[in-house]
Amino acid sequence: MAKEVREFVRTRATGRCEYCRLPEAVDEWPFHVEHIVSRQHGGDSEIENLCWACSRCNLNKGPNLGSIDPTSGDPVLLYHPRKQLWSEHFLMDDGRIVGITAIGRATARLLGMNSSSRIELRRRLGDLGEL
Ligand SMILES: [Zn+2]
Repeated sequence: MAKEVREFVRTRATGRCEYCRLPEAVDEWPFHVEHIVSRQHGGDSEIENLCWACSRCNLNKGPNLGSIDPTSGDPVLLYHPRKQLWSEHFLMDDGRIVGITAIGRATARLLGMNSSSRIELRRRLGDLGEL
């Protein structure tokens, strides 16, 4: 991937994971340019199919396009950072990312957004006014 494309995606996301909102400056692992619709499913490398993602979200998402809403048990597509607004699907509650729609709940669970270490990290960032 061209360095310019990577930098564009990173800047557009203001250096935060577009799924869990973690600032890359506080993560121990490098962030990735993530294909929202994976190449396995015919996704291309145009900028509208790319997002900036922490390694945890990227690796947990893998090539998945959807998952199961843990509340209803119904299949649902995952959150799409280019087509949807984060605040319409998630909210932050004392370090925990709460899915407020079927899409939000399925995405938060699949991507492992609420591991105890991530919740604690977000709490500390919240105390510092970073989130
Ligand atoms: Zn993330």
